Amino acid sequence: MGLTLVTVDGERVSAGCAAALVRLNEAFRAQFGLELRVSSGYRSTEEQTAIFLERFHVQDEGDGPFGDVRYWNDQRWVRHSSEGTVAAPGTSRHERSGAVDLRDTGSDPGVTTEGTVRSDWLRANGPSFGFQPTGFGFGEAWHYDYDGPQDGPATTKGPATTEGAAQSGAQTTTSEQPRERAMRDSVVRTFTPWLVGALIGWLISLGWEIDDTWRTLITVATALVISMIYYAVVRFLETKVAPRFGWLLGVARSPNYHRRR
Ligand SMILES: [Zn+2]
Repeated sequence: MGLTLVTVDGERVSAGCAAALVRLNEAFRAQFGLELRVSSGYRSTEEQTAIFLERFHVQDEGDGPFGDVRYWNDQRWVRHSSEGTVAAPGTSRHERSGAVDLRDTGSDPGVTTEGTVRSDWLRANGPSFGFQPTGFGFGEAWHYDYDGPQDGPATTKGPATTEGAAQSGAQTTTSEQPRERAMRDSVVRTFTPWLVGALIGWLISLGWEIDDTWRTLITVATALVISMIYYAVVRFLETKVAPRFGWLLGVARSPNYHRRR
């Protein structure tokens, strides 16, 4: 077929699909602060056969523990594996390029389960990136068929991940959850003015000929006043002049994940 396959999350997809996945993932991340992952991409018929034979056995009667019966090679097959169902060899969409099974890095089911907020989002927005939500038609909410261009831009070296290309676009790295980051930022932004105030208060007290008890008291009192002024001034600059002044508080305001795109 002459198709260039690249590896994303350990699964093979076409170069064009990989590039589209990066764009889809950027939109998904902007919306939820989570990453999309490919659970399954292209499989050769040999691979499909191997998986099928692992999970199904020939059985003329009865539906097995999962009620999952398929016909293949003129025989009746019943699934015994709890690993989940798999199409009979030669009939899987994954034997053609373009089929991807997606999951996300959230701690709840997310895109793999029909009707969740993230699944609804992906179902609605996937098509504009070339990912058609065909899986809902056969009970596999995680399954999408990519129908965009199969040739990608000149492929980047090394294994691609849904994360990879997006991060090179100077995005903040996020293995960290947004909530943890917001917490950490707010701690930093509270203590930075105190550090600045304490430092300045101490420097001022150095110029005075006084004993250490007084020096400590003056340092603390000056620190208190200076840190409040410092915080107020930086907040003013940050909100009225430019957000980058937030760095004077140790870290600029953490990004708002729900307001991009
Ligand atoms: Zn699938």
